[in-house]
Amino acid sequence: MSFHQLGLSPELCRAITALGYSEPTPIQARAIPVVLQGRDLLAGAQTGTGKTAAFALPMLERLLLRGKRKPTAGKPRALVLAPTRELAVQVHDALRDYGRYAGLRSAAIFGGVGIQPQVDALRRGVDLVVATPGRLLDHMQRRTVDLTGVEILTLDEADRMLDMGFLPDLRRILGAVPRQRQTLLLSATLVTEVKKLAADFMRDPVEVQVAAHNSVAATVSHRVHQVAAERKRELLVHLLTDEGHQTLVFCRTKHGTDRLCRHLKAVGISAAAIHGDRSQSERTRALQNFKSGRTLVLVATDIAARGLDIEQLPMVINFDLPKVAGDYIHRIGRTGRAGAEGQAVSLVSGAEQGLLRDIQRLLACKIEIASVAGFEASEPLRASDIPVSPRRLPNRHFNPRRPSRSGARHAPSYPPVRTRAAAGRPGGNTRGEYQDGWLAQLV
Ligand code: AMP
Repeated sequence: MSFHQLGLSPELCRAITALGYSEPTPIQARAIPVVLQGRDLLAGAQTGTGKTAAFALPMLERLLLRGKRKPTAGKPRALVLAPTRELAVQVHDALRDYGRYAGLRSAAIFGGVGIQPQVDALRRGVDLVVATPGRLLDHMQRRTVDLTGVEILTLDEADRMLDMGFLPDLRRILGAVPRQRQTLLLSATLVTEVKKLAADFMRDPVEVQVAAHNSVAATVSHRVHQVAAERKRELLVHLLTDEGHQTLVFCRTKHGTDRLCRHLKAVGISAAAIHGDRSQSERTRALQNFKSGRTLVLVATDIAARGLDIEQLPMVINFDLPKVAGDYIHRIGRTGRAGAEGQAVSLVSGAEQGLLRDIQRLLACKIEIASVAGFEASEPLRASDIPVSPRRLPNRHFNPRRPSRSGARHAPSYPPVRTRAAAGRPGGNTRGEYQDGWLAQLV
């Protein structure tokens, strides 16, 4: 199946070929024909599946089909809503790439930057607007944008918009677009709240899911280290120094993100932080440095990292577990893409066991429990626990004399990471799927 066979016009196919896409991804193969037929689309797809092109390409095609017209000032024909500035920028960039030969004009509208350049862009006339809800409402109040000409509306990462409390904003925006329109809704998980939103605002949508509910890439291995909260930093430095590859580290709070980033830099690991209090230019610079490999570690909050398009990231570390189990899926969606191997490592303190249990319930695969000598859980395992079967994970033994890429030398030396293998398979299990102990309650 080619993009051409899916019904996309030569202008779009040319741009896709230039980007090196040889064939549609599963979500694209299923969603594009639905959108081209003019139907509403309800798609369950995570970032990394090619979901952006799945809605952006047929959206552009529909605009082209209805004929190129000189755009009216402030009156777009298509609107994409995204929960964060980063995602809005990424979607806008993607639309620009896909529409390179289509001659359509677009604008990205998001907060944290001056409003005037956006007002100017809208006034010059755009076919498409990609916006975050808050700033779009600002423009609506200033009457710098008029949504009465919107033919296609897309809600990207709708679950996240609901999590972030955007429902009232969404209702106001949806009230300003014509009833007679095509609506596309994409969400990592089609949870009840999302379906309710769809039922309220969509017309008989076609539902497309590319992966089983809440599934994650099969190529990602999940590992948990039990560790006392106050020793997490030390363990993180050890893991980062030992692994030496680019890592996205998640923290729950903005302050925690900054503190951790400062600590990593202090021990000689090149790190940058992104969160909602950083200016747009700081966030963009941090992301660019990370993507180019200049920074080894990017420390981020869930919201800032939402939808980040980072390809082939080998490792994601949850310094804090997310409060909402679904965020675990979003976080690790950055690794194991396109069949590449990925590692999702979580540092779990005693107080986070409940959260871990929620996460395990969501995952189809088992989380492996590993321990690093010197960092064992403060809470001793119960006598009923199965014996620990030492096994070396495929990472290099930490050598304090071997400086990390960033030059850190002062992390202490620890024996290799050990994993507890499943009962009945002593030592013979390559991925220790643990079925007993306090984590047994997870299963
Ligand atoms: P997304 O799920 O939209 O965040 O896309 C993830 C990545 O996949 C982006 O870097 C896209 O450029 C890339 N991508 C999307 N569709 C294809 C395709 N058909 N073939 C190869 N790469 C693709």
